Amino acid sequence: MDCLFCKIINREIPADIVHEDDEILAFNDIDPKAPTHMLVIPKKHIATLNDIEEGDLSLVGRLQYAAARLARDQGFADDGYRVVMNCNEDGGQTVYHIHMHLMGGRRFTWPAG
Ligand code: AMP
Ligand code: ZN
Repeated sequence: MDCLFCKIINREIPADIVHEDDEILAFNDIDPKAPTHMLVIPKKHIATLNDIEEGDLSLVGRLQYAAARLARDQGFADDGYRVVMNCNEDGGQTVYHIHMHLMGGRRFTWPAG
């Protein structure tokens, strides 16, 4: 499958991996938008948020849980952080394997651009 993030999961291309378990991988974003900017992804290939099925619900919960744990590990859980999932063109999605952006270490504005 010609998917950038599947290639990272399969170690076909390198990434700065910060967490891995049976179902999830987290690595630093190559173009960070905050002092800490990680991507938390399922090892299962799911192209967009629209493609999540009932059987994936615990996996999606695990993504959120992993992001919160990483935020705590990074030391900014109490100060706060931003979690974002972009969907399709209008949402700004550029890689079609779902991923949660975990950004912290600075103050974010709202609404997002
Ligand atoms: P999105 O625009 O929501 O689809 O986010 C895709 C993210 O993947 C962007 O923040 C990119 O900087 C990031 N990205 C693209 N290629 C790589 C890579 N090889 N390693 C790490 N992050 C990447
Ligand atoms: Zn993939």
